[in-house]
Amino acid sequence: MTKQIILLGSTGSIGIQTLQVAKAHNIKVVALSAHSNEQLLNSQAHEFGVKPEHTCLSSENPDKLCTLAAIKNCTVVNAIVGSAGLKPTLSAINAGNTVALANKETLVAGGEIVIKAAKDNNVSIIPIDSEHSAIMQCLAASNNEIHKIILTASGGAFLGYTKEQLKSVTKEQALHHPNWSMGAKITVDSATMMNKGLELIEAMHLFNVSHEQIEIVIHPQSIIHSAVEFTDGSIIAQMSNPDMRLPIQYALTYPKRLPCPIKRLSLTEIGQLTFMKPDDEVFPLLNLTREAAQFGGNAPCILNAANEAAVALFLNGKIAFHEISEIIEKTYNKTNKTKEISLEIIEQTEKEVMNCLSYLP
Ligand code: NDP
Ligand code: MG
Repeated sequence: MTKQIILLGSTGSIGIQTLQVAKAHNIKVVALSAHSNEQLLNSQAHEFGVKPEHTCLSSENPDKLCTLAAIKNCTVVNAIVGSAGLKPTLSAINAGNTVALANKETLVAGGEIVIKAAKDNNVSIIPIDSEHSAIMQCLAASNNEIHKIILTASGGAFLGYTKEQLKSVTKEQALHHPNWSMGAKITVDSATMMNKGLELIEAMHLFNVSHEQIEIVIHPQSIIHSAVEFTDGSIIAQMSNPDMRLPIQYALTYPKRLPCPIKRLSLTEIGQLTFMKPDDEVFPLLNLTREAAQFGGNAPCILNAANEAAVALFLNGKIAFHEISEIIEKTYNKTNKTKEISLEIIEQTEKEVMNCLSYLP
């Protein structure tokens, strides 16, 4: 079980909940980072007794994220949003620190590099993302070869909408997730279904499976957080009420299970669980993700960078919701693809994606 953590992105949705978990289980907090919310960062540092030199405001000093991530003998909780989390993740791994990873963009942009570094340094990456935590828990129950992963998705804010209806949805509607309260970017990602695309690539890297071995299933109640089917046809699923404190706690107390203050699940209260196929016509980003996953190399990085840029434009009121997927598709098709991958290629690819998008407002 984790004794001390470095928490990157402490002022966000996952960051704040991680501090609640740390407090409940007397886990020492050694370092904290925020991007620009200095006030909350300082009050968290004060509350958890973190030294000022172990705090970082990454908008002013991005390099310090890597310095903090390399403090020895800690678990690094990466709760940063976006591919800005990649270098700190690598820094943590190279220092021999276990990584509790919420920052899925790290694995989408640079999964191959990260998994190789983790192997070389004999470091574990423990997922915080609820689906991947669920898969890890299913595998802890039966450590057999995976036949198939069933990656569940709530369907986001616009489940059941038509293409036509998506043209007139507002930012407020997109930011209202039916089951989870999360940061703005991931909430929009859920509404476009890009979040499930990112999670598909995250799962491929974490569990060493192909995209064909992952079935995406819409499950609007968000009770089954994902499942694994084994060779014999048996499916093991993990269930709970939707509350991120559970996967965060599991990542920090693994392999132990300790009491957790979330509302316990009553199956009779829920009554029924439903499942359906995703609508690939209305939400085309899932198929585009499979295409990028199949290509490999820098293709997922292109997709991720285009998505980060398009979501930021949407959140700033510059483009409409339905334009997010159009812009991603256009940018994906226009950017140079290579089967190779390295940190330099990732940086170059992200620059190229920004150039592709420079015609936009
Ligand atoms: P938030 O937007 O709520 O928080 C993001 C955190 O990262 C904040 O502390 C923010 O600082 C900091 N940050 C923002 N931009 C940068 C940057 N460029 N460099 C370094 N730090 C930055 O996001 P969430 O907590 O919702 O999500 C964090 C990650 O976890 C994402 O990758 C998301 O996909 C993943 N995740 C989140 C879930 C959730 O329930 N929220 C569930 C599963 C996965 P500041 O406050 O100063 O802006
Ligand atoms: Mg998730």
